[in-house]
Amino acid sequence: MPSKILVVEDEEKIARFIELELQYEGYEVEKVTEGRRGLELAASGAYDLVLLDIMLPGLNGIEILRRLRKSSDVPVIMLTARDAVMDKVSGLDMGADDYITKPFAIEELLARIRLCLRKRATAGAENAEGNSALFCGKLTLCPKRHEVQYDGTPVELTGREFSLLQTLLENKNIVLGRDTLLERVWGYDYMGETNVVDVYVRYLRSKIDDKFDVKLIKTIRGVGYVVRDE
Ligand code: CA
Repeated sequence: MPSKILVVEDEEKIARFIELELQYEGYEVEKVTEGRRGLELAASGAYDLVLLDIMLPGLNGIEILRRLRKSSDVPVIMLTARDAVMDKVSGLDMGADDYITKPFAIEELLARIRLCLRKRATAGAENAEGNSALFCGKLTLCPKRHEVQYDGTPVELTGREFSLLQTLLENKNIVLGRDTLLERVWGYDYMGETNVVDVYVRYLRSKIDDKFDVKLIKTIRGVGYVVRDE
């Protein structure tokens, strides 16, 4: 999907020039020439990046940015007039991601846009990774990093212990029978003893419950095991 860029610029010629260049690069572009409308659109959540001029009718760029930052962290590149040092300073203070001084070479603007979008994409990916972690009380399990921590202290687990704990956490508050756990953690074709589940639950308990003095994995007599939020 192409990135969507909002251009808030009242000088029609400049706005049109930027629009054409950005479209040529494959971006989807919307332009607006008035400050209040600019703020409204910038805050709408519909754009991946905002190019924001400072001298605008209605509401100036600095004020737009100040209000925008109360509700949105959309990347913003300020377009400032030449030598307007104060503008740059206030823009960055207000939470602009970058600025470019007019007149600018389009290549420089494109480079800054790419950088801004890439930074945001990286931050987004890190967040997504963080969100995929599983929690129960003070216990955290991060599938991607293959890490388990209890209250910030790393817990070393074998591959099988890790999968067993992951399965229990993915089904938090649901009691899982021994057969279900066998199937999910050891696989359908597992031919060994069914008490292997009990054995591995014991391993997990010795590494987590005993060590940190908690009761993480509960035995439901005659049924199986569960990890519950207290
Ligand atoms: Ca202007």
